Amino acid sequence: MALQFASLGSGSKGNATLVKSENCLLLVDCGFTIKETERRLALLGHQPGDISAVLVTHEHSDHSKGVGPLARKYRLPVYFTHGTGQYDGFKKLPAPALINCHRPFTIEDIECVPVAVPHDAREPCQFVFRHGGKQLGILTDLGSITPFVIDCYQHCDALMLECNHDPRMLSMGPYPPQLKLRVGGQWGHLSNQQAANLLRSIEHQRLQHLVISHISEQNNCEELAREAIEDVYRRSDTLILADQQLGVDWLQVC
Ligand SMILES: [Zn+2]
Ligand SMILES: [Zn+2]
Repeated sequence: MALQFASLGSGSKGNATLVKSENCLLLVDCGFTIKETERRLALLGHQPGDISAVLVTHEHSDHSKGVGPLARKYRLPVYFTHGTGQYDGFKKLPAPALINCHRPFTIEDIECVPVAVPHDAREPCQFVFRHGGKQLGILTDLGSITPFVIDCYQHCDALMLECNHDPRMLSMGPYPPQLKLRVGGQWGHLSNQQAANLLRSIEHQRLQHLVISHISEQNNCEELAREAIEDVYRRSDTLILADQQLGVDWLQVC
């Protein structure tokens, strides 16, 4: 079986992504309640007991809310960095596993490459997954693009990429000034234009799927995100938007 991935939902109200091979089913983040996670997993043909491990990118609630309850109920191992593990919600897990943010590790037949990113959490990381000679990148929740990030995502065959906000909508929108500064700052979230600039810097011609992710309901819209991305990435047949409610159905990377 080729490397596959699907989204249970993406955005500021909750994020969770599945990554699958023959022998392994990884859940990356879980920002939904147990009940909602079970419901969304079932729509993708799975139940929590199928999950080999949960990987957590950082402790913000849209990524962590369901992790503890799910891991305790189904006795799932949870992988996170030392800093992320300081979060109170991760103190009583059945099988915590610390990862070094700068060292790849393997779960079953999937190689997991953590990528340190600038974001206002304790020790956040994102991930590149490798299986069968193919690479899937997940890249959300970062305020700026570093040379290290460009290196790590250079040769992906599929990519979930944050297009959080349109800077004009953010500045005109309803957020309080401090929150606007946070979201638009160096340790906040990627704008549509920053996401497009990342694509300019990597080998995006080889992408089989590009999934616009973590889009803000208040400060962005699908049309503006697509417009910015399509300025660089002209293959609209392989461009998908991860919906907060519907997520994304299974995609194969072959
Ligand atoms: Zn987030
Ligand atoms: Zn975050």
